[in-house]
Amino acid sequence: MHRRQFFRAAAALGALSAVEFAPWQAVAAFAREVDDFVRGPAVRDHPLRQVSPHVWMIFSPDGFPTPENQGMMCNLTFIDTAQGLVVVDSGASVQIGEMAIRQIRKQWQKPVVAIINTHYHGDHWLGNHAFVDAYGADLPIYAHPGTIREIAGVQGRLWQTLLEQWTNQATMGTRVVPPRLPLEDGAILRFADVTLRLHHFGKAHTPYDLCVEVVEDKLTCVGDVAMDRRIANMDDGSYLGTLAAYTQLEQRTASRIWLPGHGEPGGGVLQWNRELFEGIYRPCEQAIKDGLPLEEAKALVLRDPRVASRARETKGFETNIGKYVSLAYLEAEAAGF
Ligand SMILES: [Zn+2]
Repeated sequence: MHRRQFFRAAAALGALSAVEFAPWQAVAAFAREVDDFVRGPAVRDHPLRQVSPHVWMIFSPDGFPTPENQGMMCNLTFIDTAQGLVVVDSGASVQIGEMAIRQIRKQWQKPVVAIINTHYHGDHWLGNHAFVDAYGADLPIYAHPGTIREIAGVQGRLWQTLLEQWTNQATMGTRVVPPRLPLEDGAILRFADVTLRLHHFGKAHTPYDLCVEVVEDKLTCVGDVAMDRRIANMDDGSYLGTLAAYTQLEQRTASRIWLPGHGEPGGGVLQWNRELFEGIYRPCEQAIKDGLPLEEAKALVLRDPRVASRARETKGFETNIGKYVSLAYLEAEAAGF
């Protein structure tokens, strides 16, 4: 080894051990630098839009994650209360959360005082990272106890990795910040002039969905229990459970606006999704009764007018319908015995 190389190597070693033995603040700063180094780029601004007296949203035009949209695929909702803003679903990355914070700071002088994550799919909570960075690690983040468990466990890391893969690393730098505060069915949160009532209906889109009713506005954020012109990921869900949840939502709330995680809010969201799911599930149920194989059930579903009339306007239809008919067929088979 040449003398100069030796000095360089020694200096590098010295720097390393300085980090190893530095106080925790220095280590944290070093970790943050590494984090910034591998961070994906900022997400372009998406506008805020008012939906009802207290409810605003950032609408996601795309239904699925791509490198181009950097994971911007899920609506973010903001409930404007006299105490501050309550966020329902925080987006799929730290970059999307930061974009949302830029928009709300243009609109309001008030802080974010709470987040509610509707379920454990990563497009609904990976943005938590940006909000705790901006509003403090003590920011209350609520979810169903099962959602808390899943995000703190396997699903958290899984969705962090999936979003990185689907966006060609655009979401890099996003940390898993799990919700900490459990909300059960029937829970009520009061924020001065606004009352939020939480609903859970058993397994629907996932086993642990929460719907957030904004009582004064006659509006309910339904998460992914219902969607508008997008086919839902039913890997963790139940068709019958989802259909039962719609009936419960209509009976328990006086809501006139259903605000979904994907697609446009409106009065017809439950009905649109109900007919799509009836059109997928009922032919499978009939096929099971008639002893028909899966392939014939698929043909029946595609011919069903409730499905055929929606196929073209439904995001993700072509790529997902085969898989989600299989899931409906399996569910009908299990329900039949
Ligand atoms: Zn979902």
